[in-house]
Amino acid sequence: MNTRVALLKCEEYNADVILDVMRESLALCGGNDALNVTGKKILLKPNVLFDSDVSKAVTTHPEFLRAAIRLMKELGASEIYAGDSPGFQKPGFRAKRCGLSDVCLEEGVTWYDFSHGTVLRNSPEYRMVNQFMVSDIVDKVDLIISLPKLKTHQLMYFTGAIKNQFGLIPGLSKSPYHMMFPGRHSFAQMLVDLHTAVKPAFAFMDAIVSMEGPGPGSGFPRQTGLLLASSNLLALDITACRIIGYDPDIIPVNKDAIDRGIWLESSSDPEVLGLSVSDVKIHNFKKISLTGNPSQLIEFLTPRFLKKLEIALSPRPVFIENTCIRCGQCVKICPADALKLEGMILIDYEKCIRCFCCHEVCPEDAIKVKRSPFTKGVM
Ligand code: SF4
Ligand code: SF4
Repeated sequence: MNTRVALLKCEEYNADVILDVMRESLALCGGNDALNVTGKKILLKPNVLFDSDVSKAVTTHPEFLRAAIRLMKELGASEIYAGDSPGFQKPGFRAKRCGLSDVCLEEGVTWYDFSHGTVLRNSPEYRMVNQFMVSDIVDKVDLIISLPKLKTHQLMYFTGAIKNQFGLIPGLSKSPYHMMFPGRHSFAQMLVDLHTAVKPAFAFMDAIVSMEGPGPGSGFPRQTGLLLASSNLLALDITACRIIGYDPDIIPVNKDAIDRGIWLESSSDPEVLGLSVSDVKIHNFKKISLTGNPSQLIEFLTPRFLKKLEIALSPRPVFIENTCIRCGQCVKICPADALKLEGMILIDYEKCIRCFCCHEVCPEDAIKVKRSPFTKGVM
C-alpha cells in the first residue's frame, strides 16, 4: 500500500510552474511506480460543480488542467481525455465559462461529453450500492486521474479527491443517489463504493486557490498556495483535511474509507513528503461547522419519525427572492421534488432531505444554508 502524499508550494496559476511542481510531486510519490501512463489512455477528471467563472474557485483551474495534460503527454500517454458532469448538465456540456474546454482545445485533447452512461455492476467491495451508472468514458480509458479542488462542502464538510469521482455519474442521474442515501454517513459509504468501482490511479489536488466558507458552490476563494499529489486518494484527502484544520477522522468519507482497510489502516498512516502539514496548516480556514452532525448511530437505528425530526432540525436551504433569477435549475435537480417555481421558488421542507444539491447548482448564490429555527445547530 503506497501511503505517500506529496505536499508542495505552488503559488500561481501558471501552467509551466504547476507542471514543474507536478513533476516534483510525482517523483516524491515514487515516479513510475506510483503512476505509469506510458502508452495508456487517460481521463483527467477536474471538478466542475457548475460552469462558473474561474475567479470564484468553484472549478479546478484551467491552467491546472493544462499542466496535467502536458505532464501526461510528457510521460507518454497514448490518448488523453478530460471531462466532468455537473449535476445540472445538458448533453454536449462544454465547461466553456470556466475555461476548461478551451484548454483542451488548445492542447489538442478531447473534452468528453459525459451524457452517455455505462453500468458498473456489483462487486464484493461495495457496501451500499448494487451497481453504478457512470460515464462511458470509464470503459474507454486505462487510467483515471483525479484533479480535485480543495473545497468545503455543506453536506460532506469537505470535498477532495474521493468525492470528485461523483462527477463521473452523468448529470441528473446523481439525484437518485441523494434520495437513496440522504444521510451523511450513508452518502459517504456510497461515495467510497464508487471510489472502489472506478479506481482512480492518481490525484493532483488544486489547492492553489481553495474554497472556504459555504462550499462547494457559494464559498469564498482562499489563496492557499499548495499542490498535493498521491496515488492513495484517501491519504491525500486526509492530508488536505489536516491542512485546513479538520480532524480527518470525523469527515464521513475518510471515516468509511479507513474502516474498509483497503487504502490505509489509520488516519495517521499517510507519509507526507516535501513540506509537512505543520509547515502549511491554515488555522483560520472557514470550515463547515460539525455541530449538529447527524450521528451515524441515529442514521442506522432510529425509527422513521426520529429521522424526520432529525431532518427537520438540520440546517436547511433558504431562498433569497431578490437574488433569484428564476432559472429553475434548483427545481430540476432537487431529488426530493421539494421545490416549485411559481413566480418564486417555493420549498416544501417536509419533503426536503437537506442534500443541498440546489445550493450547489444555483448560479446566483440565491440559496443560503441556514440553521433550523428549532435549533442552534450548524451555521
Ligand atoms: S430543496 Fe434543495 S436541499 Fe432540499 S432536497 Fe431539494 S435539492 Fe436537496
Ligand atoms: S434559487 Fe438559484 S437555481 Fe433556483 S431558480 Fe433561483 S437562481 Fe435559479
